[in-house]
Amino acid sequence: MDPHGRLLLMAVHAHPDDETISMGGTLATYAAAHSSSTDTYVVTGTRGELGEIVIPERDTPEEHATLGEARMGEIAAAMAALGVTHFENLGFRDSGMVGDAGNDDPRSYHQHSTTDLDGTVERLVRIIRTVHPDVLATYDEFGGYGHPDHIAAARVTRRAWEVAGDPTWRPEAGSAWSPKKLYEVRTPDSQRDKVLKLLESRGIDSWWSEPKDATPEDLEKWRAWRAAMACPDALITTRIDISTKLAAKRRAIQAHATQIKHDSPLLLLSDQDMLDLGAMEQYRLIAHRLDHEPAQPESDLFAGLR
Ligand SMILES: [Zn+2]
Repeated sequence: MDPHGRLLLMAVHAHPDDETISMGGTLATYAAAHSSSTDTYVVTGTRGELGEIVIPERDTPEEHATLGEARMGEIAAAMAALGVTHFENLGFRDSGMVGDAGNDDPRSYHQHSTTDLDGTVERLVRIIRTVHPDVLATYDEFGGYGHPDHIAAARVTRRAWEVAGDPTWRPEAGSAWSPKKLYEVRTPDSQRDKVLKLLESRGIDSWWSEPKDATPEDLEKWRAWRAAMACPDALITTRIDISTKLAAKRRAIQAHATQIKHDSPLLLLSDQDMLDLGAMEQYRLIAHRLDHEPAQPESDLFAGLR
């Protein structure tokens, strides 16, 4: 709970833009600008300095050299669109996609969390012990789609969940504080299939569309990867209705201009399409410290805490 008595959601992400794409509607719902009883705090592990630049005329060595700063500006604009007033960066270096040279950089989130997990976790625990979140939300252990920084964020958040409330764990990192619920944001199989069907009916390719001209071996690998990006519907515990936050989420997506093309499937679908698809962000409760099992399905990440 924050100093104003509001319940606090902390969203722990890898790069600027992940927070908006995966849970922008949820953040807009709980941000103080939209609620007097809840607030949000966004943490990103890196500044995303190894990301692509999707605007051709800006895809230059000079722009890449300062991409981290540019993306911090983009997340600031996205947070303004969502009404989120608190966000922080842990200061690790972007590791790049699986197999990139950046994976081996000792400053990278991936390397840091691999060689010194607790040292990495301490940066997040300091924030948790200062701002007192009631709920943590991050990725599943595959990091949504296998990116090393997303996997790092998932591991670091799970470890922080375990140790932040232990007064003997790194007491120099602040007084113990235990969040009460831990979530991973997920896409259930049925949602992926509905989105894919709609996009295909309009001839729009997405990262869920089967690659053409792939070898049978590559296609098999790709299918396993796509399967890992979603989960059985039965695992979903919590569905947040974002139907009134679609415009805010769209503005926040547009704010991440170097990362998301204006003709991305994320922007090509209209608000009506989103409503037809259910307009939901979905989560799996993976741990809690409530005195009773929460009733499911939930429609509120703070269910049981209010
Ligand atoms: Zn990311």
